[in-house]
Amino acid sequence: MLDKVVIANRGEIALRILRACKELGIKTVAVHSTVDKNLKHVLLADESICIGPASATESYLNIPRIISAAEVTDAAAIHPGYGFLAENADFAEQVENSGFIFVGPTPDVIRIMGDKVAAIEAMKQAGVPCVPGSGGPLDDDDEKNKKVAKRIGYPVIIKASGGGGGRGMRVVREEKDLLKSIQATQTEARAAFGNPVVYMEKFLENPRHIEIQVLADGQGNAIHLGERDCSMQRRHQKVVEEAPAPGITPEMRKSIGERCARACIEIGYRGAGTFEFLYENGEFYFIEMNTRIQVEHPVSEMVTGIDLVKEQLRIAAGRPLSISQEDVVVRGHAIECRINAEDPKSFLPSPGLITRFHPPGGMGVRWDSHIYTEYRVPPNYDSMIGKLITYGENRDVAIARMRNALSELIVEGIKTNTPLQKDIMADENFQNGGTNIHYLEKKLGMS
Ligand code: ADP
Repeated sequence: MLDKVVIANRGEIALRILRACKELGIKTVAVHSTVDKNLKHVLLADESICIGPASATESYLNIPRIISAAEVTDAAAIHPGYGFLAENADFAEQVENSGFIFVGPTPDVIRIMGDKVAAIEAMKQAGVPCVPGSGGPLDDDDEKNKKVAKRIGYPVIIKASGGGGGRGMRVVREEKDLLKSIQATQTEARAAFGNPVVYMEKFLENPRHIEIQVLADGQGNAIHLGERDCSMQRRHQKVVEEAPAPGITPEMRKSIGERCARACIEIGYRGAGTFEFLYENGEFYFIEMNTRIQVEHPVSEMVTGIDLVKEQLRIAAGRPLSISQEDVVVRGHAIECRINAEDPKSFLPSPGLITRFHPPGGMGVRWDSHIYTEYRVPPNYDSMIGKLITYGENRDVAIARMRNALSELIVEGIKTNTPLQKDIMADENFQNGGTNIHYLEKKLGMS
């Protein structure tokens, strides 16, 4: 097993990684910014190093400082968590070139998946179903682009190949708007991502977001852990996630899951990863692959009993997968509510001192969070302060437990989105299951 791991992240995921390391007997190094010296995982780690000021570019995004921390502590590996440098191929490459293990896929695979046109091409070749589209970058041939759109059928969506975070996309409903939308997306993509390449896809009107969790060892073995439904979103940000996805049968899970696992073997994937799909009228359409552990990974852990972060660490240590596809059984139902330090109505961030805190508890309740009474939520980073996860033998039980757990959760001194989560859990359409990606914004009166 790895001897010592640098946790190159903060907040709940840093604590989650620390817990997995401890269970495996791996020593931990917390690297943190000045404002994060009192983070829970920093206090619990074997060693900690301050790598810079609050600004992420000077700390959590600063590659030389993170690698130096691994050098001075004589660590074996670096776990990037999610966000920050987790999907930065240059970082993974520099980590490896400096003689450390990157807990994740190879730099080449990260690079391909970070370029959506290349990712879609790789997936098509591996037999993963994709959205009907241009099948490559759009060039400057206006007539050709019009033909492509006509073949796909309006509405279409123009997307930046280097895009991320729900930015760099434009929906086009009629031919008269096509050319100027392509140009505008190219300009925006060049400015925002330093890559002007755009492509075209059929715009799906009312899809759900369903994703497949995979694990691969890079030694020819890959499995899937079923799906998650993450359709409850606001501004492309996931708010509630669940596993399994309502209405997905074991046969559908097997069919799409096995295709993803096979694709992992074909592209030489290593580690934990997620294939994201839009799901409409019974069909899956690949949109992108995330080459890291995701925020919503606990719901898959709860229904399969597999610890994804421990598996990531075992794979990074060079071990072959210890679980086979037959060992993966999806049992019961799990729901995750993201708890954010924000105003539940205006959604403005609400950082500050937590004056009182009580976590919920009871059977089937999991609270993944770094907060405690007297902890100060800094204004510098993402507003998520915890993830509340409930498990039950079926979806109704998981929802009932979530409603109890939300009513037990006490966070005072700052505002949180707990009231919004209570509303969602009490929503009849959510309770029936299967709402699409526009549902929450419609409910909130945003669209
Ligand atoms: P990002 O990397 O920015 O998250 P994605 O390709 O994952 O980009 O797309 C983000 C979101 O945009 C999707 O979850 C979906 O809501 C919307 N979207 C993307 N492609 C399509 C499409 N072809 N049809 C409808 N909506 C889409």
